[in-house]
Amino acid sequence: MTQPRYVINHERAEWVVRTLIDAWRRKLPPFDHAEPVPARLPRTLIPGSVQHAVWLLVGLLYMRGRIDSAQAFLRLCKVYDEHPWMFDPQTFMLHGFRLMNLRARMHKILKENGLGFNVRETVRFWNFNLKKLARFWDSNPLLIFDKARNYEELCETFMNGKGDPSSPTGFMGLRHKMVSMFLYFLINAKLVKPLMHPGPVDTHNIRVMASTESLLALEMGPGTRYEFYEVSPVARELYLKYCATVDDVIDFSNALWYLSRDFCSVSQGNGSSTSGYRGRATEVFAKRLSWPMERVDRYYSTCGQCSVESVCRWSLPSARQYNNGFLEIRGERPRPHNEQILLLDVPRVLASRPPEPEERKLVLRDKFQVTLFD
Ligand code: SF4
Repeated sequence: MTQPRYVINHERAEWVVRTLIDAWRRKLPPFDHAEPVPARLPRTLIPGSVQHAVWLLVGLLYMRGRIDSAQAFLRLCKVYDEHPWMFDPQTFMLHGFRLMNLRARMHKILKENGLGFNVRETVRFWNFNLKKLARFWDSNPLLIFDKARNYEELCETFMNGKGDPSSPTGFMGLRHKMVSMFLYFLINAKLVKPLMHPGPVDTHNIRVMASTESLLALEMGPGTRYEFYEVSPVARELYLKYCATVDDVIDFSNALWYLSRDFCSVSQGNGSSTSGYRGRATEVFAKRLSWPMERVDRYYSTCGQCSVESVCRWSLPSARQYNNGFLEIRGERPRPHNEQILLLDVPRVLASRPPEPEERKLVLRDKFQVTLFD
């Protein structure tokens, strides 16, 4: 039997899950200003309605990476308010030229509203999914959730039969991550009953799990790859093993996403430049490391305030995933050095017994400035 390439480091994973859930609930940085996506709804949308669920289903098309999803949802609010027909599944029951014209109009509207990224594929998936809803599900995605008894059945309904427009199952762009994401949206919006599920596993989740060594590859070190489709089932297993309730799943998902997006992304070791986009052939380069004062300061207001800093060992730039299709360990996570490194003991101690966020920020800045200018 071949050895699995990725395994859960159980003791570490349990600590990281409990620590991040606790940090999320206590609103420690960077969660003090975090607003779960989508932060707003269209003005003309009735919260809790079937249309609300359809709008969220469409929004999933903008949660596939390489685009700011929070911004995309804001723009989608405007599109809904001005062109509600685009979110009515019955619209897509047209055929031939009329359907082609409709799709051309959608292209134009989306581009005009700053949603031109990958627009051709987005419109194709949008059209396919809403037409399937209209044909087989009475234009109501919530019926799919009523029928499924568990997460596995939900995945079968959304994932099997994708290429077949005559099958009631199979929706474009929906694999495990998006099924979990849809559940996350619907549970937050109180549109479906809470159902146990693994949180959405994506670049952000895997990066934190790998950098903290909660998810181990067979060999750990610079150049170790985390291949998305191989590591995702293990990451989903980690969620289910260490999140005891649906609330835990939702809070852990939130924590991983915001931590990676707002803190890990500005960690110096993850800084990258590219050769210009050339698909999978795009070259990704590490940015030069240096510790001028403003970078040390930034370190203290990001990694230095992170609740799992004490166990975070590796840098994994997201640019690798978005350009080359895999996450890769670049090297040990850099920290300020020489006399500055001594100051790292301060946030480390604080990370295990953190004071309130505002209080912590002041303590760190005071210590730092006193030492530097002494
Ligand atoms: S220490 Fe920095 S890179 Fe590591 S998990 Fe925390 S914020 Fe991310």
